Amino acid sequence: MNVTVHEARGLDVLTLAQRSLCMSRIRGRDTKPEMMIRQGLFARGFRYRLHCGTLPGRPDLVFPARRAVIFVHGCFWHAHDCALFTLPATRREFWEKKLHANRERDASAITALEQEGWRVLVIWECALKGRMRRNLDAVFDECASWLADPGAATAEIQGTDRAESLSLSLS
Ligand code: ZN
Repeated sequence: MNVTVHEARGLDVLTLAQRSLCMSRIRGRDTKPEMMIRQGLFARGFRYRLHCGTLPGRPDLVFPARRAVIFVHGCFWHAHDCALFTLPATRREFWEKKLHANRERDASAITALEQEGWRVLVIWECALKGRMRRNLDAVFDECASWLADPGAATAEIQGTDRAESLSLSLS
């Protein structure tokens, strides 16, 4: 395959083959749930920076003027307590340690961001995929009103079998 892809800005010209090579080298970038959020918010007029490396935890979407960041978390890699998460049957100790470390890293990133005056929204994969997924427009609307409200504190959006879809505490 040798199709040339031109993105809107005209700066990003890669063949599809080159592109998939790049993507495979960058774990966690441009995953499908993240693309869904990006597209939904872009369509609602929000503009953002991506994967800001100078901020704690490298947030997926950054809204500098709103002093807000969004993480779109995969339920496995971030060990979400939900139906999408299953501890692998083999090498359980390895996975427990690794995923626990991921959770700790997430928690410290959020604390560090808050200390720097950022508001943090975590959107879990299970809000967008699987049997617990929520209405997509409702998720975008929730993101949009959270972004638009400068007083909205750190929050998360997750699948529907959770006690609260938008809760103010991150455990
Ligand atoms: Zn989940």
